[in-house]
Order: sequence, then C-alpha cells, then structure tokens
Amino acid sequence: MREILELCVKMDRLADDLYQTLARDCREPELAALFARLAKDEAEHTGWWKGLLAAWDRGLLPELVNDTAGLVERLSGLYAEFQTIEFDTLGTLSVEQMLALAARVEFFMIDPVFSELIELTEPAHAGKRHAAYQVHVQRLVTEISGRYPEDSLAGLLATSLTRAWSDTMRLSAYATHDPLTGLYNRRALQTHLPQWAAWSARYGHPLTVLLVDIDFFKDVNDRFGHATGDRALREIATAMDEGVRASDLVIRYGGDEFAVIAPETGLAEYGELCTRVLDAVRAVTLDTDGDETLRFTVSIGGAVTHDAAGSPPQRLESLLAAADQSLYSAKQTGRDRAGTPIALSAS
Ligand code: GH3
Ligand code: MG
Repeated sequence: MREILELCVKMDRLADDLYQTLARDCREPELAALFARLAKDEAEHTGWWKGLLAAWDRGLLPELVNDTAGLVERLSGLYAEFQTIEFDTLGTLSVEQMLALAARVEFFMIDPVFSELIELTEPAHAGKRHAAYQVHVQRLVTEISGRYPEDSLAGLLATSLTRAWSDTMRLSAYATHDPLTGLYNRRALQTHLPQWAAWSARYGHPLTVLLVDIDFFKDVNDRFGHATGDRALREIATAMDEGVRASDLVIRYGGDEFAVIAPETGLAEYGELCTRVLDAVRAVTLDTDGDETLRFTVSIGGAVTHDAAGSPPQRLESLLAAADQSLYSAKQTGRDRAGTPIALSAS
C-alpha cells in the first residue's frame, strides 16, 4: 500500500513539475497562465496522496488493495512511460506540441487506477475529489477546443479526453454505487468491510457495523405506489449519509436495508451513532401526490468489535450475522430503535 501511494505522489509531482516547466517556457502569456493553473491543481492532487500516505504511516488506513503487486506493476509502468518525457527540450515545443503533451499527461492521469484508489481510500471525499479532477481536465479541454475546430485532430483529442474521463467515472460509479440512492452498493460493502475489519484487528481499534432496516416500508409502496417508495428510499438514504460522521460509510445493502461501517466506534460510542441515524430518519418528511406528509422510522442492529492489536480479523459473515441478530431484536421489541449491540471478540 505504501508503495502504491508513493507512486501516486511521484506521478502527480512529475505532472506538477511538467506544467511548471511549460508555464515557464511557454511564450504565450494566456497559455502560460493555464499551465500554471494546471500545475497548481497537480500540487493539490499531490497533497491528497501525501495525506493518505501520512494516514497510512500512522496506521489510520487499512490495507485496501487486494492485488498489491499487480497494481504496483501497473502504476510503475505508467510512471516509467511518464518519465520518458524530456523536460529540457520543452522550451523548443510549439504551442500545439505543448497542448498535445498536456493531453498525453492527462490521458495517463485519467487511468481508472486512480479513481479506484480514491474510491477505496477516501470514500467520504471521493465525490469531491472526482469533481475537482473533472474541473482540472476541463480546463485543458476548454483551451484545446477554443483553439482548434471540432473536426480537427486536436478537436478530436479534446473530445476523446472528455469522453475517456466520463467513461471512467461512469464505470467506477456502476461498480461501486447503487443507482437509486447514490450510496455505496453491496459490492462495496464486500470489499470495504473485510479491509476495515483487518485494520481494526491489526491496530486494536474498535469497529462497529450497523444494519438499518426501514420500518413497515412495504406499506409505503402498497399505499402510495412504487415511485413514492423510491423517492422515500432516496430521502432516507441521503438523511442517513448526512447524519453520520464523514468517516462512516453508509451502504445500500439491498431493498429497504442499509449498512453502516463505523471505524473508531466501539460500545461506548454505539448509542450515539445509532441516535444519529434514528434522528436523521425521523426528521425526513415526504409529501405524497395527495396532500399527505409521510414520516419514517428505522430499526437498527449492531455488531461491535474491539480486540487487542494483532488479533485475527473478524469475518464479514460473522459481523453481518451478529448485526442481523441485533436488528431482529430491535424489530421484535417495537421498531424505531437500536438493538443491543453484539460484541464480537477475537478469541
Ligand atoms: P419491517 O418493519 O418488518 O421491515 O416491515 P417492512 O414492510 O419494511 O418489511 P420488509 O423490510 O420485508 O419489506 C421491504 C419492502 O421494501 C418490500 C419491497 O416492496 C420494498 N422495496 C425493496 N426494494 C425497493 C425499491 O428499490 N423500491 C421500492 N419502492 N421498494 C422497495
Ligand atoms: Mg423493512
């Protein structure tokens, strides 16, 4: 993981250097300003990766990559290609060659490897990171499109760059997100939860997993139709996502059921976390087509682990089964509440 993050830092730093050199060597002031701006963006991206590297070194990040060797090889390949750019001859390039070089750099940087890493390492900030990157790529695309006709080779390059970026984003969203609510999907849970369980066991930090199920949701569909049910699911999902801490991960587990992964949350914090979720959902109001205002409640089940550093990690199945058992008791004892958390221990 360290090697991966280091490579990301190196790549963005190289891009930063390249844009700074272009900004210095470019004789057209407007274009020089664009390169300077792109350099500034790259410095910011370098800062993100450095932040993650620091978090990794302090034991705050789990080992998130399954195939580390494969990813290192891929990133090293990209980095090696990147290094073939000859910095000392940049001053001799024409404006057109400079823009082509910048486009080539951005083609490297929109590799899905980076967006996947951002999704894995910073799920709570991924949306913001992707948006910032979009603005960055767009600066270059706008410049190229403004200078060359759409049907020229350069115009085609600009279109391709935009398209490649949006395809990368779309594919990454399909793979990890639920289209209805925009939350992470079950597949994301299956990758993230074992990583967090491993992290928790390795460093002896607490970890809580919640299962959250909407109460009597079938009635909403039955009385007001599926479309209203869908709207309700979206509102409830958003409320929960905004209700928890940025480091907590809210996932659509399936149907009207959600999961929350809450790192650094043990038995002592369980009640507060559940209250946040319960209150966030209680505050949702939804107007129906005929003048009714709907309100909602959820029931919550929780599994909590807090083992000594170096313990074997809890298995995904055990965590989910325990949370499910706790959820069942919350439903049985009247709903709109959290079940007693089930503490799992390594021994
Ligand atoms: P309980 O309090 O026991 O959970 O009662 P419930 O009515 O919520 O029961 P249950 O959780 O079994 O029902 C889930 C319902 O959620 C059934 C299904 O119609 C509805 N549902 C699942 N997925 C969707 C969806 O994507 N859209 C809509 N509108 N409804 C969905
Ligand atoms: Mg339900």
